[in-house]
Amino acid sequence: MLVRGDQLNVDNPALDAARNEGAPVLMIERRSESQIVWSSKPRSALFLAAMRHHAAAIRSFGLGLDYVDFEEAITEPFFTVLARKIHAYQASQGINRLVVCEPGEYRMLAGLQDVCAQTGLALDLRVDTHFLCSSDEFAAWAGDKKHLLMEYFYRQMRKKTGVLMQADGEPEGGRWNFDAENRKGYPKSGPSKTFTQSGFPPDALTQSAIDLVARTLPDHPGSLNDFRWPVTRAQALVALQQFVDERLAQFGDYQDAMWTTEPFGAHALIASSLNLKLISPREVVDAALHAYQTKGLPLASVEGFVRQIIGWREFIRGVYWRDAPHMREANHFGHTRPLPAWFWSGETQMQCLANSIGQTLQFGYAHHIQRLMVIGNFSLLAGLLPQEVEDWFLAVYVDAVEWVELPNVAGMALYANGGRFTSKPYIASGQYIKRMSNYCGGCRYRPELRTGPHACPITTLYWNFLDRHESALLKNMRTVLMAKSVQRLSAEERASIRAQAQQTLENIEHL
Ligand code: SF4
Repeated sequence: MLVRGDQLNVDNPALDAARNEGAPVLMIERRSESQIVWSSKPRSALFLAAMRHHAAAIRSFGLGLDYVDFEEAITEPFFTVLARKIHAYQASQGINRLVVCEPGEYRMLAGLQDVCAQTGLALDLRVDTHFLCSSDEFAAWAGDKKHLLMEYFYRQMRKKTGVLMQADGEPEGGRWNFDAENRKGYPKSGPSKTFTQSGFPPDALTQSAIDLVARTLPDHPGSLNDFRWPVTRAQALVALQQFVDERLAQFGDYQDAMWTTEPFGAHALIASSLNLKLISPREVVDAALHAYQTKGLPLASVEGFVRQIIGWREFIRGVYWRDAPHMREANHFGHTRPLPAWFWSGETQMQCLANSIGQTLQFGYAHHIQRLMVIGNFSLLAGLLPQEVEDWFLAVYVDAVEWVELPNVAGMALYANGGRFTSKPYIASGQYIKRMSNYCGGCRYRPELRTGPHACPITTLYWNFLDRHESALLKNMRTVLMAKSVQRLSAEERASIRAQAQQTLENIEHL
């Protein structure tokens, strides 16, 4: 029975098999897993710390555990270790199959299939019961639709689970979606309260993982100084309850807002715990519903949160297993520009990017608008090579696992798959960032300027994007107004935007 580092649920079906059949559980820490998927220090530390705590839990259940630690034959890749272990089990116990829960990425699935083929084992893949919608169920919903829309999937999930549904079969509050009410910026004076990540100071086991990463992956990006993420199920449940008690009421209003002194805002900070499977989507939703029913939290906040969990998260996973791995090769606009070096340091004069990337490297975290409308927006407008942007997102966020990261970046942020499940490219000028944050106040650029020495690079590149893609944007109902706005500019204005954009891109390393 194999347990992967992102399958740390106590009801992992592979553990069930170990319980029922008394077979040993195998867990493998590998340096190569931090390098094939280039992984930041906080991300690597989180995976290792959570695995080590999970190993202790498995032993406490009385199950046999074979744990290969990071430094045992340190350069051996994951699949080499796995094949070596299988040969040993075949010799000592005569095993004939490998039981594992569905993995979270194609690379792992293909590797497991190869190892089993080489060693003559049957691969016994168990359905991942962590998710509320199985891959088969999603495939049945998606059918041969060319365009997949989350909203319809979400409504089906609401009906199936009964979450926020009235007895008459209508959605709670008479509407499926309160998204339009969930887009406020903070007041000009800033957030009325400071949102903190109370976090979990490292215990001895977590500290061992942090020290290991510091010693063995010194050249990897990111900081370990502020590592406070939940690494056990108990901690993840505390983090969930803290969110529900302290931030959920304001989550709806301020989920898109950004502020220099608020790296976490009213966000839940449980994505890493969910994606490691320390907690389940059902218990997360139940905690929010309980607060809604007993404390009268605003429906817009609760619905906005529920939509992320039973709507977007399940939808994205379904899309991944239908469209990857070719999604990774997608490049709708044919963009080829390399990632600027400052993505790995945060050292740029553009304060929106300096703050969003800076906190990403410090904590392994930025919230969805910082990821989508600051970093992703710049990446799309600047024409960065999608595969380099995807690799960066997978490397730096503590919650990044390929099934969730790749569709969000390739499909949502970069429109690299040509709008398979989005209705338009998500682009914005510096004016949007000014409205949603206080970043522009401390910036050398001015968000309202598209040309000239103080022009905001994001505003320049936004108008340049409209200029370049005018005809395609005119054909899309959701972008026709953007296209018309660029049509109103004179030929001279459009020529100056093109010239400024060219200069901006030539100077991209020094913006
Ligand atoms: Fe970002 Fe432009 Fe605002 Fe500077 S002026 S913070 S680059 S949006």
